[in-house]
Amino acid sequence: MLTSYRVSCPHAGCEWIGSLLPQTDTQAYLGAVVSAKVIVFQCPKCERQWRAKVVGDDVIRLPLESRAKALT
Ligand SMILES: [Zn+2]
Repeated sequence: MLTSYRVSCPHAGCEWIGSLLPQTDTQAYLGAVVSAKVIVFQCPKCERQWRAKVVGDDVIRLPLESRAKALT
């Protein structure tokens, strides 16, 4: 059963805050270990995605990897 989390969009210029259900993206589970579940959120405002790690009842945003690589 999916749970919604209260999150804020990490993308620059957006800053949307609200409750979101995680996406069911199988890529999110690549390399996942039992104690660290990674989920994907998609922002309803800017429609960009980001990943977060589930820790207990909370989620911790992961760095925006693709964006960091795009910067030169
Ligand atoms: Zn956003």
